[in-house]
Amino acid sequence: MEHIQCLIIGGGPAGYTAAIYASRAGLVPVLYEGLQPGGQLTTTTDIENFPGFEKGIDGQGLMDAMRAQALRLGADLRSGTVTAADLSSRPFRFSTDDGNEVEAEAVIIATGATARYLGLPSEEKFKGMGVSACATCDGFFYRGKAVAVVGGGDTACEEATYLASLCSKVYMIVRRDVLRASEAMQDRVRKTGNIEILWNCNTEEVLGDATGVTGARLLRKDGTRFEIKVDGFFLAIGHHPNSELFSRWVNVDANGYIVTEGKTSRTNVEGVFAAGDVQDPLYRQAVTAAASGCRAALDLEKFLSSK
Ligand code: NDP
Repeated sequence: MEHIQCLIIGGGPAGYTAAIYASRAGLVPVLYEGLQPGGQLTTTTDIENFPGFEKGIDGQGLMDAMRAQALRLGADLRSGTVTAADLSSRPFRFSTDDGNEVEAEAVIIATGATARYLGLPSEEKFKGMGVSACATCDGFFYRGKAVAVVGGGDTACEEATYLASLCSKVYMIVRRDVLRASEAMQDRVRKTGNIEILWNCNTEEVLGDATGVTGARLLRKDGTRFEIKVDGFFLAIGHHPNSELFSRWVNVDANGYIVTEGKTSRTNVEGVFAAGDVQDPLYRQAVTAAASGCRAALDLEKFLSSK
């Protein structure tokens, strides 16, 4: 069994930033990057809202840079997935998919969240070519165009109103005859002239050609089918935090997000910290994930030095 001081689980902005800070603190962190090194950002195109890049940077490029920085500072980055965890007592024990057994004095969970998609083959085909699960990331590219947002929750309303400020027309595709969103968010949608809600509708297919998305075919509950013309198709049907492996020990909220104490990254288990989207149902931005990775490394360093 390998024994280490600091384990970081997850190779997204939170994990890499935690690795940068922990490396500089001399903790020689081991980071398992998971199935998708770079995380959700590697599925987006240009990132124009990460500070420091005047002309924007592509998602993969940003993650490659964070990764290289962590590596240069001495982090031990491993391409593998943590498949089992035992957080019942310190040192915590972990198994990885390459058959390794690791014992860590402290751990940062930065496993992220996965946006939920409808599961249509056409949706998969146009991912990154008009299909997106992040209006804040990709909305800018649809300035003056028509787009659709699927979902009726707070995220869908927020994304629809954000997109409405950029786009000529926003269709909200809602599967029931009510919105799940809070009254305040519903009110914002109602007051936005260029949002049209398509009630009782499900998406049958995302339509497109070699240039990307051109529309969607919808099926209304009464059995009627119709098409809308859009250049962007945004999913806002919820995110799924990747917390299952830890939720036996670590407190999670009703939606599975890890609960952290106040402004810290501390969980209810001493020595276990959480950073990034796995503990953040609200902001979910690369820059906020990176910032919480920083907090987690500082909290962990303080914890280890107190022992
Ligand atoms: P929610 O789970 O609240 O809403 C998901 C929406 O997507 C619902 O309208 C749901 O429909 C719909 N949906 C789910 N699956 C499908 C499907 N297969 N096809 C079509 N529609 C589907 O997720 P959110 O991401 O909106 O919100 C998550 C949490 O974060 C909530 O607690 C929310 O309040 C909070 N939040 C708060 C914000 C704020 O306060 N500013 C901003 C964003 C989120 P149905 O209603 O029929 O189930």
